[in-house]
Amino acid sequence: MAETFDFVVVGAGIVGIATARRLQTTQPGARVAVIEKEEAVALHQSGRNSGVIHAGVYYAPGSAKARFCRLGVAATRTYCDENGLNYETCGKLIVATDEAEEGRLQALHERAVQNGIRIEPVTGAEARRMEPNISAVAALYSPTTGITDFAAIARHMAHRFTAEGGSLRTGEAVTGGRETAQGVTLTTSRGEIQAGKAVFCAGLGSDRMAQAFGAEIDFRVIPFRGEYYRIVNQPEDLVRHLIYPVPNPARPFLGVHLTRKMDGGFTVGPNAVLAGAREGYGKLDMNTRDLRESLSYPGFWRLVGRNFAPAMGELAASASKRLYLTRVQRYCARITLNDLAPYKPGIRAQAVSRDGRLIDDFLFVDTEHTLHVCNAPSPAATSSIPIAAHIVARLTGGTAGTEAP
Ligand SMILES: Cc1cc2nc3c(=O)[nH]c(=O)nc-3n(C[C@H](O)[C@H](O)[C@H](O)COP(=O)(O)OP(=O)(O)OC[C@H]3O[C@@H](n4cnc5c(N)ncnc54)[C@H](O)[C@@H]3O)c2cc1C
Repeated sequence: MAETFDFVVVGAGIVGIATARRLQTTQPGARVAVIEKEEAVALHQSGRNSGVIHAGVYYAPGSAKARFCRLGVAATRTYCDENGLNYETCGKLIVATDEAEEGRLQALHERAVQNGIRIEPVTGAEARRMEPNISAVAALYSPTTGITDFAAIARHMAHRFTAEGGSLRTGEAVTGGRETAQGVTLTTSRGEIQAGKAVFCAGLGSDRMAQAFGAEIDFRVIPFRGEYYRIVNQPEDLVRHLIYPVPNPARPFLGVHLTRKMDGGFTVGPNAVLAGAREGYGKLDMNTRDLRESLSYPGFWRLVGRNFAPAMGELAASASKRLYLTRVQRYCARITLNDLAPYKPGIRAQAVSRDGRLIDDFLFVDTEHTLHVCNAPSPAATSSIPIAAHIVARLTGGTAGTEAP
């Protein structure tokens, strides 16, 4: 007999676990299970990121990213405060190093204001006073940006989920299934499971899960590896804030930034390299199925065609540490080649549309008994608690309060 649950969540990254907790706390008596193919929680994106609690500066006003990120900052801090988890609101400086970047800084300032985010323009002299090791002609100061360890938060939520009767089934992969009149049948590496409703928070596998369960989608997950270096040989007060470049519109994502870590020290990164495997973290890792699916997708070729020079630039900076260093030295000349030590990379699950564009906003697709989180890139770790509230409201017809799960 297949085991039966009211709700099954597929994927134990921070979005899946926050959703499971939200179901558990808002649906009393419901049987909730999380199915995770790895042996532990948060081994992919949720455990391989910059650890930045984003304030919400960058996102298009009115977008789900802008809304959930703003709510997520408060919800993440509250969760940490209530559960004795560490975070630090260290603030960040977005630094312009030439006139062109200064112009783009102004646009970013306006966007942050539209998003209702606290942001302060800073002159070059003020920026150098705040950060003597940083060069800037102008900057924006975001006092509410912080850092945390999202994997630790996910593990904590998972612990509470199981302690209060939730079923966390690790080492079990969902391989297929179907929607029935009553709910969902999931086929896993261990057998069958029946669910009243299923939520798929499968990150790098989100398109495959959506296709397997008959959701209508028109995107594919394209993996972008983000490579970091840990900074060594530098003093603990190299910088006091997070230091971000002004995003380059020719390149996706936020650019290589200098990030303070919860366990001390700093990293620089991440770059954004088209990866040959969705979960292959080595530079040369290739997976035949992943490659076949990327290369057979027209959106992939349109993406590459439109961004050929930046894509090659990312590959070159991945292959050459010296080239990578030049990106950091634009704003922190003090860091040298010998200061860059290896650090674990992450791989972004980025939904790309058929016309070759990166889908910018969070994307949710539902069928009668399923909900698929189809695109949850950064700042989805910051936003996981309001995303979970949104998912559960959508699934159960309730309202999305924003309190922590
Ligand atoms: C390099 C990098 C830097 C980032 N920096 C930040 C940051 O500073 N701040 C921020 O807010 N966000 C950041 N992000 C984004 C953030 O990490 C992600 O948005 C977030 O972790 C997504 O969580 P998730 O639960 O959706 O996905 P994941 O953490 O990837 O979890 C998905 C889970 O689903 C499981 N799964 C997949 N398929 C199956 C299956 N068939 N059966 C069972 N299980 C399955 C996987 O094993 C995995 O555990 C960054 C991301 C990257 C890659």
